[in-house]
Amino acid sequence: AQTKPGGRRVALYTNAQQRTQASRLALMGDLFGAVERDELRLYCQPKIDLRTGRIAGAETLVRWAHPRLGLIPAAQFIALAEQSGMIGRVTSWVLNATLGFLRGWQAYDDVQTLAVNLSAHDIRHPAMAQRVQNQLDAWGVRPELLQFELTESALIEDPDAALATLRRLKDCGVEIMIDDYGTGYASLSYLRQFPMDGIKIDQSFIAPILGDVEAAAIVRSTIALGHALGRKVVAEGVECRNVSNCLAQQGCDLAQGYLFSMPMPIEELPRWQAAHIKGLAV
Ligand code: C2E
Ligand code: MG
Ligand code: MG
Ligand code: MG
Repeated sequence: AQTKPGGRRVALYTNAQQRTQASRLALMGDLFGAVERDELRLYCQPKIDLRTGRIAGAETLVRWAHPRLGLIPAAQFIALAEQSGMIGRVTSWVLNATLGFLRGWQAYDDVQTLAVNLSAHDIRHPAMAQRVQNQLDAWGVRPELLQFELTESALIEDPDAALATLRRLKDCGVEIMIDDYGTGYASLSYLRQFPMDGIKIDQSFIAPILGDVEAAAIVRSTIALGHALGRKVVAEGVECRNVSNCLAQQGCDLAQGYLFSMPMPIEELPRWQAAHIKGLAV
């Protein structure tokens, strides 16, 4: 942006930027009716217990089945939803779809906890915890089957509001994990004041642990500190067996990543789990 002599600020874009900006706006426009048009899809990715190799829950990840552009991953539209004020509706849809799935699954012995991602906006919303409680009651789902993942940056944006919401969520009986840990400049000892059950170390630290001594040191000390504070530690973005072995050696509790499974439609999770258990048995 540049200020002209008249004092009016004009934005100068290159052609490429202009195109990106235009497609962002078009996408934002499409997003407005996406929930009503039933275009969102619930995907999930299993979390693996590194001691036993068994599945220990799954994280739900939203996808947008765009009529022209195909399946769009969360990374490409969640920020847009946040900027356009649509994120509340996306979160409601995801929570509802997650509980709807858990409702059917909780009758079975092999039911797993499902984790829903929340945005900063959701945490700031004073009625968030009440909405969660209402939804749990409406679906008749046991609260211990539901988890929430909140990014470190969302928590420290407005720590007082976040703390209030987290306490109320904990009162509902759900678990809370800190997501993308290490990317938001908050130390674990600062996060100690938040009622959280575990931390997920960001994939940017996990991917290079075999070759990068600094990333390895950060991961090792985060696992130690997390355990010293009585928290579960999860590694995200595990793509190869050597990384997984290294994390297991360091006592990391759970891991998630393409090594175990790509995100899949949630309906496929029970079958994936059955096949996974069979694979362990042989
Ligand atoms: P996240 O919660 O940290 O989720 C992990 C992201 O990494 C997901 O991208 C997942 O598909 C991807 N991933 C999983 N395993 C691997 C791996 O081994 N390697 C690599 N390179 N990537 C891996 P996705 O689904 O595009 O989601 C991106 C972010 O969008 C999420 O990061 C989360 O912050 C947000 N998000 C996803 N679903 C929701 C949702 O329902 N609501 C909200 N508010 N945010 C969501
Ligand atoms: Mg997450
Ligand atoms: Mg994460
Ligand atoms: Mg992430």
